[in-house]
Amino acid sequence: MRAVVIGAGVVGMLSALALRERGYHVTVLDMATARPPASWAGGGILSALFPWRYPAPLTALTQDAVPRYTQLAARILAAGGPDPEVYTCGMLVDAGGEHDAALAWAARHGKPADYRSASQVAPVLPDAPWIWLPEVGTVRNSRLLKGLHCLLAREGVSRAPSAAVSAIVPEQGAWRVSSAEGAIMTDQVLIAAGAWSAELLADAGLQLGLQPVQGEMLLYPPGLAPPPCVLLSDAGYVIPRRDGHVLAGSTLRHGSQDQRPTAGAAQQLRAMAETLWPPLKDTTPVAHWAGIRPGSARQWPWLGEVPDAPGLFLATGHYRNGLVSAPASAELIACLMAGKRPSIDPRPYALSSALSAPSSSSSPP
Ligand SMILES: Cc1cc2nc3c(=O)[nH]c(=O)nc-3n(C[C@H](O)[C@H](O)[C@H](O)COP(=O)(O)OP(=O)(O)OC[C@H]3O[C@@H](n4cnc5c(N)ncnc54)[C@H](O)[C@@H]3O)c2cc1C
Repeated sequence: MRAVVIGAGVVGMLSALALRERGYHVTVLDMATARPPASWAGGGILSALFPWRYPAPLTALTQDAVPRYTQLAARILAAGGPDPEVYTCGMLVDAGGEHDAALAWAARHGKPADYRSASQVAPVLPDAPWIWLPEVGTVRNSRLLKGLHCLLAREGVSRAPSAAVSAIVPEQGAWRVSSAEGAIMTDQVLIAAGAWSAELLADAGLQLGLQPVQGEMLLYPPGLAPPPCVLLSDAGYVIPRRDGHVLAGSTLRHGSQDQRPTAGAAQQLRAMAETLWPPLKDTTPVAHWAGIRPGSARQWPWLGEVPDAPGLFLATGHYRNGLVSAPASAELIACLMAGKRPSIDPRPYALSSALSAPSSSSSPP
């Protein structure tokens, strides 16, 4: 089987890898960007933020993220790529009055959790009970993406790095995927184009509730005392990197695809970060950027075949949880494309529930 994957973000690249493992000849097409707008920009926390606030379909995709990324990191290193720095540092959450809900969620999913005084973890933190989730880890996005490029090359996945796909058209039982670079015929297509996926599906008659959500991050240099773990509150989070860098994130601007960072967001993030981790007070950030999340009106992604378009698949809408849920999403969509039974029940992610009206779904894009 031949498959074209549109989008070289973390969802597209991991899906391409999972398809290759199932014997596919895979080509990945991406617009001219070495920095996928969401995957490059993210914080790399391998947990949903406040995981107990999410429904079961999101938990199913996120709960094994750390072991999955640990295995992936070993494969990337073996392929000669950079270390994606999976770092199981734990996450300490200022959970307000949600302690019981958090502990009940952890018990239900077999995750260790307790609540303890934050000042026990670090004396500069408040003497107030916060939730401690010791198994939460992080991955370093830029290194992960470079590593995935190495791994895909090693596995024989073809890439066309500057092909903005403009049309996907059924032709004689196959699909023609067109860009300014030319056209490719393929048996199956996976749209994993992040916040731009809806544009490629404009005529499919689906109500997916997708929307770009811009988000900004700050990077602090090594040299100050980094937090010992991820710190999370309703205002934001700070993330320690293994080399001493500290990330602070993130803002939410709904409906925006503008990748230019703003002075207002920098100010907001600095105030948040200095409150959450006071040692940041005397340090000036060294970098500030914006990314575009594939936002979704619901809290888990769309993964499945487009109704009435056999061979055309979609994997998007990962919103704030695309890094943590990408490995399980990739496995699920690759199983569906290959006609195999996935280990996770695919029904909650299916696109059939997104049909706007039966009469409008007859022609694929
Ligand atoms: C500030 C910020 C912080 C975040 N923090 C976290 C976190 O800590 N943990 C977590 O799990 N998630 C986090 N996320 C969310 C996560 O980054 C995203 O959910 C995830 O990266 C989505 O990946 P993707 O592959 O779907 O999209 P993208 O990474 O955007 O990739 C889509 C790709 O498709 C390409 N494309 C689009 N249209 C076309 C076309 N027509 N033709 C060809 N190519 C096309 C784009 O160029 C792009 O490379 C964060 C996001 C942001 C912005």
